[in-house]
Amino acid sequence: MLCLTGTGCSPVPYSGASGASRNKISPSALMREVRLKVDMVPRGTHGRKVVRPMSPRYITIHSTQNQTAGAQQHSLALKRGALRATKRPGGNRIGYLIWHFTVDQGMAIQHMPTSEQGEHADFDGPGNRYSIGIEMCEERGSDLRATIERTAKLTAILMKKHGIPIRNVVPHYHWPRRGAHPANKDCPHFLMDNGRPSKKWRWFQSRVNDYYRRLE
Ligand SMILES: [Zn+2]
Repeated sequence: MLCLTGTGCSPVPYSGASGASRNKISPSALMREVRLKVDMVPRGTHGRKVVRPMSPRYITIHSTQNQTAGAQQHSLALKRGALRATKRPGGNRIGYLIWHFTVDQGMAIQHMPTSEQGEHADFDGPGNRYSIGIEMCEERGSDLRATIERTAKLTAILMKKHGIPIRNVVPHYHWPRRGAHPANKDCPHFLMDNGRPSKKWRWFQSRVNDYYRRLE
């Protein structure tokens, strides 16, 4: 028998029975596990000073590369307008960074509606125009595995809600940034192999898919 878990194999062979349906869960019950707090940047301010409608077709996964802040601190920074970027033609469109959700080991926070475009991926490219941006925190001492699982759950719920297929769940790497070097960012860096999506990314996709298949 093939054993992938590393913790010993069940002596009972897989029966093909309803393993998946046994663990079905409603989106609202899974959302309770995500522990989502909605704490929007006020409409008309900072990253939301220009409101640009969006019908999301993709979900873009990032990591913050900030070892000193969790979701709460990122939320406060966004609401203060502290995350500035240089506004330029073909570059950042509004002078601020903003994305939709930040996830850490204990909670997730929503910063803007999924019906509005953020500034988190590729300037004026399709990553910003059509994707929901999720940032994973990596503050020192935090449980990264817990953050990744929470992100997988939130991603599955958003896929279901917006009819987004798993192939459209992409790492920031997926979106080339015109004028940046390298064009394809090593992000989220802890799910890339040598700076590119490979084994670790496929593992993350499988975590998302596991939750997605369980949703009723
Ligand atoms: Zn990123």
